[in-house]
Parts: sequence; structure tokens; C-alpha cells
Amino acid sequence: MSDPSDTARSPRFRSALDQLVNFKPGKPVRSPEGHSYELAANESPYGPLPAVREAIAEAASGVHRYPDNNCAALISEISGRLVVPEENIAVGCGSVGVSQMLLEAVVDPGDEVVYAWRSFEAYPILTRLSGASAVEVPLRDGVHDLTAMADAVTERTRLIFVCNPNNPTGTVVHGPELEAFLDRVPAQCLVVLDEAYREYVRDTRSPDGLTLAQDRPNVVVLRTFSKAYGLAGLRIGYVVGHPLTIGAIRKAYLPFSVNGVAQAAAIAALRSEDELMAQVEATVAERKRVSEALAAQGWSVYRSQANFVWLRLGERTQDFGAHCGAAGVAVRAFAGDGARVSIGSPQENDAFLAAAAAFPGRP
Ligand SMILES: *Cc1c(COP(=O)(O)O)cnc(C)c1O
Repeated sequence: MSDPSDTARSPRFRSALDQLVNFKPGKPVRSPEGHSYELAANESPYGPLPAVREAIAEAASGVHRYPDNNCAALISEISGRLVVPEENIAVGCGSVGVSQMLLEAVVDPGDEVVYAWRSFEAYPILTRLSGASAVEVPLRDGVHDLTAMADAVTERTRLIFVCNPNNPTGTVVHGPELEAFLDRVPAQCLVVLDEAYREYVRDTRSPDGLTLAQDRPNVVVLRTFSKAYGLAGLRIGYVVGHPLTIGAIRKAYLPFSVNGVAQAAAIAALRSEDELMAQVEATVAERKRVSEALAAQGWSVYRSQANFVWLRLGERTQDFGAHCGAAGVAVRAFAGDGARVSIGSPQENDAFLAAAAAFPGRP
């Protein structure tokens, strides 16, 4: 416990920390019948495949050794899979870890970072931690307002996040508007296309970032093993971009931060892609079922291209979160705005739909 007199004797902390708070974990939820469904963090509802478990067990016997600091075997596997040269790929401790590397590589004090809002909660945290000023551009109808984002760029802007599909609204931006945006952004400014949910996209108008990054050295694509690949707990993601950009980003790698178990599991997951994509297909089918059931209940939901849905609840958001929690369903409630609910197993989704139907403030 801290004593008021400690303040005078404490180290001097960076002012950037004044804008940050310690992470508060969500409260565990339980229904009267005793079930507890986790639909708050967009994780895969499927446990690791047998081949992935085996790779993890095998790698576990080597944890007295440091991991490969270059993630060479994994980079080679990703390279073969994406048909992209190895020098165009860097791996990090989750795509959140990669985002931190990107910021470390481009931000000096006083620089600006632009992103849409509301979007991924890690952006404001990482931006402030980097010492940059956050420039938040409001979504328009739940979608990135790319024109306004391009307008927000100044000579101090060093990095722009574009979350496609957007967390938490699930919306995507389309090819022509994204290309027009990229054409407007100055070459000195790094654009990060965060494609954490790429595998769940079925809207063919949403472009593959890898194609867009191909001839643009200032565009990189972020991908993760946390969602479709089911390895959220192991913390591993990667970025694809121009070799010059990737070379700079790699210098910002926190040594040994991607552990050997994660590297082995990611390789096994890539080799099990057919089975994993079948799981993704099942989640996409459940997303359709859940979205249609919510619409039938009277909710207006965006057409989600990710593994979650977004309910606009405004002032009723926290009541909704508490109501779902009491029904044993953990959802992510953003006070005053809305609730994001992950697509889980059919049984979990049914429990959520029943809770949504019984919500007193239902539309
Ligand atoms: C879940 C998520 C990620 C994944 O982060 P990891 O650090 O790889 O677990 C990245 N970006 C967005 C927008 C996400 O929602």
C-alpha cells in the first residue's frame, strides 16, 4: 500500500503515464445454473488442435533454452504460406507487441498518431506510451471515415492505424476508398493495416492489405495468431511490409519476447490451416445466425465481418453488460457507447441470444 509521504520520495515518472490507468480485469460471470461463457475478448471458442497441442508439448521440453530471437523457422513458414519474401516479415509478441515495435520505430516526442475512434483499445494505450499525441477521428456510421482521417494528417503525423475489419463495430472499408486514402497519405507516414480478423471477412469488396502494401513502402499489414489461429494465450503476431520498413521495425524488437512454445505452436497452426479455416467457417455461419436472430429481436446491428457483433446501446450499455453477466455471459461493454459480443460456440451464442431477448431495455 502506498503512503502519501511516498510520493515525495518516488521516482519521477513520464507525464505520458498520467493519461494511462492500470488494466482492470472483467468480473467473472456465472448464471444461476452455474454456466460461465466468455464472449468478451473475441477469442476462438475452439481449444488447440491435437497437432498444435503436440507441438506445444514438444517445445515445452526445451524451455530451459532461450528461443530463436529471429523466429527464423516461423518466418520461413509464413513466407511460404503468403508467398512473400522472408525479409518482408517481422514477428512480435502478439500484434499488440508488433504495434509497439512500429511505434518505437517511427515516433519521436511530439509526433502524432492517427486512428479511428471507437476502435481497438490498444491503440490509445500504445500511442500514449510511445509519447505521441493521439489524434482520434470519429467513425461515421460505425465505419472508418477515411476522408476525415486523411484530413487529420499533419507534418507531425508519423503513423496511422486502420483497423479492417474494425474492432468493435465489425465494419470494413472497401478497396477504392482505401486506395484513395493511401494515395493521399504522405510517403513519410507509416500506415498500419490491422487485419486481426482477416480470416472472417466474406465481403469481397474489402481488399487484402498484402496487395495494397506490395508497391507502397509506407504501408504494412498486421496479422495475428490470436483469433482464427486460436493462440491468444501464447502472444504471437506478425507484420508484412517493405524490407526497408521491416528492417527498421526489427530493430525495435524486445529481445526474446516471442517464446519458443509460441513459435512452435504458430508453425503447427499454419500447417493445420485447413482445419482452422473450417472452424472459421463455422464461426462465420454462427455470426450470420446470431446477427439475424438479433435483428428479429429488434436490434439494429452492423453487418459484422469479424468474429463478434456490436450492439449500440448508449446509456443502456452497462446495464446490458450486467444483465448478460447475470445470465452467465461475459460481454465487452464500453460505457455510454455499446457492447461487443464475440461469436462463440452455438450453445454460448444461444445463451447470449436468450439474454439479449430478455433485456428489459431491448429495442
Ligand atoms: C484482437 C486484436 C488484435 C490481436 O492482438 P494480439 O496482440 O495479436 O493478441 C489485434 N488487433 C485488433 C484490432 C484486435 O482486435
